[in-house]
Amino acid sequence: MHPAAWLLPLLLAFVDAEDDARAALEKAENAARAGRYSEAKAAYERLAKKSPDTEAGKIAARRSTPSAYLGWDWVVEHGPSSNRVDIVLMGDGYEMEHLKGFAKLAADIPPLFERQATFREYWNYLNFLRCDLLSAESGVDGFGREYDTALNAKTGDTYAGHVVIDRGRVSAMFAEMPAHDNLAICFVKNGVLGTGGGGVATIGGREATTTVHEWGHAFGWLGDEYETAQSAHQGATGRSANVSDTADPEKVPWAHWLEAKHPGVGVYEGAAARAKGAWRPTTTGCTMASGERFCLVCQEALVLRIYAYVDPIDTCAPEAQPNRGKPSLELGPEGLTFDVQVMRPTSHALDVTWWILPEARFPTTGGGSIPGGRSQAGAKDRARRGALVPITDEPFRPPSGAPDGKHQLKLAAKDLEPGKYLVVCRAKDGTKLRGEKWPWVLKDADGVLESERAWWITVK
Ligand SMILES: [Zn+2]
Repeated sequence: MHPAAWLLPLLLAFVDAEDDARAALEKAENAARAGRYSEAKAAYERLAKKSPDTEAGKIAARRSTPSAYLGWDWVVEHGPSSNRVDIVLMGDGYEMEHLKGFAKLAADIPPLFERQATFREYWNYLNFLRCDLLSAESGVDGFGREYDTALNAKTGDTYAGHVVIDRGRVSAMFAEMPAHDNLAICFVKNGVLGTGGGGVATIGGREATTTVHEWGHAFGWLGDEYETAQSAHQGATGRSANVSDTADPEKVPWAHWLEAKHPGVGVYEGAAARAKGAWRPTTTGCTMASGERFCLVCQEALVLRIYAYVDPIDTCAPEAQPNRGKPSLELGPEGLTFDVQVMRPTSHALDVTWWILPEARFPTTGGGSIPGGRSQAGAKDRARRGALVPITDEPFRPPSGAPDGKHQLKLAAKDLEPGKYLVVCRAKDGTKLRGEKWPWVLKDADGVLESERAWWITVK
């Protein structure tokens, strides 16, 4: 017997244990997904006890605590997480017998967004996921009483007792999920009112009407466009896309709307919950006040935020190859076909333009071909790429839109002289809806509305 032969069965047993534990974990997750929450909980507990040293067993142990993550499911899946805004819906204070009720509440949230004009236009840019969180108790910490809940909600230090949650707990729940964007809407069963910021909106009870407003804070980094007498609400004015600490028309964050002389935008005092010293762009009643629609300035900010996550080009074939080092595609007698699928806003189409640039004359394209790019926190951040360098050459095919977002370029060898070329496809959202005089976005400083794919080809 080889001296190490005794190791093999041991190793196999170890691999078996990991495999078995992983299968058991998956089974528990599937039970949660099917709404069999008690069964999922019991399965996590069994696995944690049986295989404490396996990776899956350690995960199961985390999910066996009295308040814990049980699983997740899609509520609305429009496309791959890698190129959508993933909005995670979480609940706090939902005990075992309330979890089915939370699933119902979660199902009611996407329709709120679909009915809202701005999000309706970019509806299929959004995914909604439900994160099933078990709370041991259903209270909200405060007034000298602590409750064991999944997100550790407490009564905030405000006059009206706005509910707040523990951001560290939200992050811990994100970490249990296979994909997320650090964006969540958290519903606190017994909380009141709402708060929002830094990607997380917190809603007390099921105050659906405040959901989109709080999401404006959390996702759009927008300020309040109302004033109030609640003294505890009056922190620093701050500055956001829609709230200014100065009335100077050249210095307000929406100065470009004033410069363009848009008739619906001005500078009005009363914002950020203050009557004085803070200014807002409109008087028409934005969602960041208490209106149904976002004002033009907020809408622009939200569209830009959506494109910080979502690349206008969803997929392409063949795989793009921006680097010159990669072998080029050969354009032979059978020709070459390039397919690009762009994103599809609800009522308007993105413009797609194709160029074929001779090697001697290809531009510096600012590294625009790298789709997405992720920040260190794991979140998508397309704004980091910066605007694409304009191509001044005559396009091979001028800008065109297609309602289904499908674009194709077929090349035959006879189309081109022998040599090496760069095929460039750029897609851009002009944000101009049919019948509207103004685009939704007037200023796109980071160039997020535009994207590019490129391929090297050789003609023999
Ligand atoms: Zn607004």
